[in-house]
Amino acid sequence: MSTHTVTLIPGDGVGPEVTDAARRVIDAAGVAIDWEVAEAGAEVFRNGDSSGVPRETRDSIERTRVALKGPLETPVGFGEKSANVTLRKLFETYANIRPARQLPGVPTRYDGEGVDFIVVRENLEDLYVGVEYESTRDVAVALKIISRRGSEKIIRYAFELAEKEGRQKVTVATKANILKHTEGLFKKVGEELAAEYPGITHEHLIIDNVAHQMAKNPAQFDVIVTTNLAGDIISDLASGLVGGLGFASSGNYGDEVAIFEAVHGSAPKYAGKNVINPTALILSSVMMLEHLGESEAARRIEDAVHVTLEAGAVTLDVARATGDVEHATSTSGFADAIIGNLGRQPANRYPTKAGARTGEVPAPRRRWSYGETRAVDTAIHGVDVYVEADIEPEVLGGLMEAAAGPDFTLELISTRGTLVHPPTGGRMQSVAWWCCRFIPASSDTTDDAAIGALVGRVGATVTWTQIQKLRRYAGNEGFTRAQG
Ligand code: NAD
Repeated sequence: MSTHTVTLIPGDGVGPEVTDAARRVIDAAGVAIDWEVAEAGAEVFRNGDSSGVPRETRDSIERTRVALKGPLETPVGFGEKSANVTLRKLFETYANIRPARQLPGVPTRYDGEGVDFIVVRENLEDLYVGVEYESTRDVAVALKIISRRGSEKIIRYAFELAEKEGRQKVTVATKANILKHTEGLFKKVGEELAAEYPGITHEHLIIDNVAHQMAKNPAQFDVIVTTNLAGDIISDLASGLVGGLGFASSGNYGDEVAIFEAVHGSAPKYAGKNVINPTALILSSVMMLEHLGESEAARRIEDAVHVTLEAGAVTLDVARATGDVEHATSTSGFADAIIGNLGRQPANRYPTKAGARTGEVPAPRRRWSYGETRAVDTAIHGVDVYVEADIEPEVLGGLMEAAAGPDFTLELISTRGTLVHPPTGGRMQSVAWWCCRFIPASSDTTDDAAIGALVGRVGATVTWTQIQKLRRYAGNEGFTRAQG
């Protein structure tokens, strides 16, 4: 039997309790693992490391390529960034896989409907890049980054996963109706890739409709692939459909490294009380064992979890929901029960959508188009100059028309995405932050020197905060028009 080396991060709050439970179950299942215990999270921040992930922990994961981690506390609002997100980014774990499946003995509103789907969440891009600016004292801006490469990797991952598990449908979920360039790119890549997987049904749904459909009829979903923030939210919603965060497992997969963790956080109010539900991390460990090639042990643990739940053992989270708090099992007691049930088979095997599509699984296609040069005719349409000015838009309009000079024309002024100059008759309130769109007076005035001079003239009148070139690709506008 080969021995695996795995980095174990106990984490914050209830982390040490759930990681201890998971580790005991894995060890009892007879998988030989050398655990490299490593630190990350609150204590690391307190000791002055603003990343929350010390060098030794990074080195350990670099060596082992696999980590099992407890939740890490994130300072809210200001200061340090999330150590969880840092870990995902450091090791390029671009695919966050979150299954949502009805479990035996866990009461839900959808009992017997056959809920069994997987949320495939893009893990590195979108608003989670965490690039924000306080553009003025009262206006904050965040960058939402969606790349063709990132979209292709995650959407391909979703199709490959569906193919590997014999699932029938991939739902690409976006907000492309509003965010046509960012979410729109994700949707487009989904359509392009779907053509390569003719055996799998592809659909696109708007993310708010996914939330609606998930509450109404969650059994319709099979594999859902979506952008980072939407994936964060709908996967928490998904966990609520199948018993709550106590049961929600996840894996973060990259080309080289995989990190397994529960979806839930550090639940600080329960820390040290031995009452939290360890199932989520134990099921994440099942995903880890699959990844390590220990499928047989993974099945044994999953079966033992199901047998334990079938027998009616529940932790406080479920006992509260059923009004039977007195009979709640402790965290360690629940892990003991699972260990005691290793080798037993559940009475009922819950239906799964995996295997619904039969036939030979084609070899994975690992072709990323980002490696190819996409020769596209590119042209400059104009430039947006964002300015701070606590004045009426008509007054600003006069100033900017003058600042346009001989080389540019002021096309419009918008604020928060809505046109205010030329006046539209709308009632958009000022937040003293405006986007002034200039277009070249002739095609030979679009060089950087001309743009620099324009910004200089604007800056001589009002404070500019940001400049953005407007580009056309193959004649298509690579920017949004102002609303109205
Ligand atoms: P949380 O997941 O810790 O708790 C949300 C609710 O779910 C609470 O009522 C909690 O008691 C309950 N809950 C969570 N896990 C449970 C379990 N295993 N069994 C039973 N009930 C459970 O979310 P939060 O309160 O928003 O966050 C607390 C801290 O955790 C924050 O610092 C947050 O940033 C961090 N966090 C970390 C991760 C991670 O490490 N991946 C994920 C989410 C939140």
